[in-house]
Amino acid sequence: YSPSEPPKIHRLDESVVNRIAAGEVIQRPVSAIKELVENSLDAHSTSINVVVKDGGLKLIQVSDDGHGIRLEDLPILCERHTTSKLTNYEDLQSIKSMGFRGEALASMTYVGHVTVTTITPGKLHGSGFCYCSCFFFFFRVSYRDGVMEDEPKPCAAVKGTQIMVENLFYNMIARRKTFQNSADDYSKIVDLLSRFAIHHINVSFSCRKHGASRADVHSVTTSSRLDSIRSVYGVSVALNLMKIEVPDSDPSSSVFKMDGLISNSNYVAKKTTMVLFINDRLVECTALKRAIEIVYAATLPKASKPFIYMSIVLPPEHVDVNVHPTKREVSLLNQEFIINTIQSAVESKLRNSNEARTFQEQT
Ligand code: ADP
Ligand code: MG
Repeated sequence: YSPSEPPKIHRLDESVVNRIAAGEVIQRPVSAIKELVENSLDAHSTSINVVVKDGGLKLIQVSDDGHGIRLEDLPILCERHTTSKLTNYEDLQSIKSMGFRGEALASMTYVGHVTVTTITPGKLHGSGFCYCSCFFFFFRVSYRDGVMEDEPKPCAAVKGTQIMVENLFYNMIARRKTFQNSADDYSKIVDLLSRFAIHHINVSFSCRKHGASRADVHSVTTSSRLDSIRSVYGVSVALNLMKIEVPDSDPSSSVFKMDGLISNSNYVAKKTTMVLFINDRLVECTALKRAIEIVYAATLPKASKPFIYMSIVLPPEHVDVNVHPTKREVSLLNQEFIINTIQSAVESKLRNSNEARTFQEQT
């Protein structure tokens, strides 16, 4: 090592940059599925079906009945930073769609082989294509490294859009190995779809292994969240849930709204299940989860972990959605206040139900 000779700095190849970035967005098979399902939700789908082979390494296929993609957009669909959802930075403040960065599909093409089949309203003329909603066409097109491989080919009908990712991480040997020997990601995928299913009760979801006749998640549209939880998580969970709401009384006084279903003192589980949506985004919030676990541990005699479904709604400008490449975490204005308020609501709900139960047992 000679101090007189610092190492030379050079610019990384774009393909290297893109693959590194892609590895951050698509950390594992389940992250690809989350992005694809969120795209289907953003496309106003009412039915979303997932098929997975080899824990997602061999094949991921997400089909929806959403609005489809314009033919003219297909050439740039999988380029980095192409999106139909965001235009100005300021739009991020009020963004309602799950996606906004135009990175997910691009990322998938840098770490796998992507084929898109989609419906396009319009009409083929001798020389070109004209948009109108009286006719529909279907196109199939494949992508690698952000680029469309061939011209879109007309194909047989799908309802909305179907996106297929094959050979995920084929060019990331270490990562492929990590997932090769584990059925682990399939259970994560089932878990993910279960969460989406009980929140989006106006959308039907299914998830199955390739070739399997039985779906591992299968939800039908319903108007009752409890019904949906019963069908996805089972009767024994649904039986032991209580409705919870914040604010209880005066809605104008609150900076946020929460409604949910939480397990009562009869529910028994070794692990906490916390399904949390903030402004319809599936997120994790470790601090809130801890706060609730503490209440359960302190209030219930048995050392049972809770089942929690919660949907929190806040003014969009109070949520920063752009803090994590996988968008798994968001940061909230007034986070402490929100957590404390929810914690007391859970505590009083739980205490009431526990006292009612003790009373029942004594009489
Ligand atoms: P983002 O969701 O951040 O916009 P993506 O890379 O996930 O970025 O998707 C790029 C664009 O492709 C989206 O903005 C959307 O217009 C289109 N798209 C992706 N998936 C679907 C789908 N299932 N149905 C309709 N359009 C889709
Ligand atoms: Mg997206």
